[in-house]
Amino acid sequence: MSVILVTDVTKAYTTRAGQVKALDGISLEIAEGEFVAVRGPSGSGKTTLLMAIAGMLRPTSGTVKVGQQELYELNQRDRAAYRAKNIGFVFQMFHLVPYLNISENVLLAPRIAGANDRQAEAARVLDQLGLADRATHKPAELSAGEKQRTAIARALLNRPKVILADEPTGNLDPENADTVVKYLADFQSQGGTVVVATHGPAAEASATRVIQLREGRLDDGG
Ligand code: ADP
Ligand code: MG
Repeated sequence: MSVILVTDVTKAYTTRAGQVKALDGISLEIAEGEFVAVRGPSGSGKTTLLMAIAGMLRPTSGTVKVGQQELYELNQRDRAAYRAKNIGFVFQMFHLVPYLNISENVLLAPRIAGANDRQAEAARVLDQLGLADRATHKPAELSAGEKQRTAIARALLNRPKVILADEPTGNLDPENADTVVKYLADFQSQGGTVVVATHGPAAEASATRVIQLREGRLDDGG
């Protein structure tokens, strides 16, 4: 059964230089439990595709379904709530809040959503990611690998169906890159679905499917 269904999605930007089609008629079905690596050169649309699947960027045309829900039929508030419950997002640049400690970073989104009872769960995921002794540290006191593990802990907190990761190893050395990929693979082995945009080989080794983007289109090699 598909957990992600992207149907004929186009995203066009109007710039001074004219129209740019970041996505140009993408259709993609991802089944529960897949680990999909999205490969493609810089500017090929990887980030745009992940943001559209995350419910963070409304396509110009086409539809995106996650679970049984058409994301862009929801209003912005309901879509944010649906995303918080079902989708974890990991960014290349970590996106941690510098003045909050690691535990507070992981708990920030549920706190904004009004859930103040997630401390035990946060401690559990931080422990699972080897960060128990970093819980009260600030992001600046962490290595890049620890920062990205914090971002994965944050993505895992709500036990999402899907984790989307946008070049999550782009700022890591090979050893830390392997560790981050291993945690994503662990999530998949427990039944989760992973979609990773990637430049390098680290994530591709764990992928059950590799797809290639080129100028906003899926390249089937033909
Ligand atoms: P990738 O993640 O593969 O590097 P992106 O999805 O970031 O690619 O970008 C795809 C294309 O869309 C690029 O040509 C980029 O310049 C363009 N693009 C992305 N965001 C915007 C924006 N906000 N305004 C105009 N063009 C954009
Ligand atoms: Mg990108």
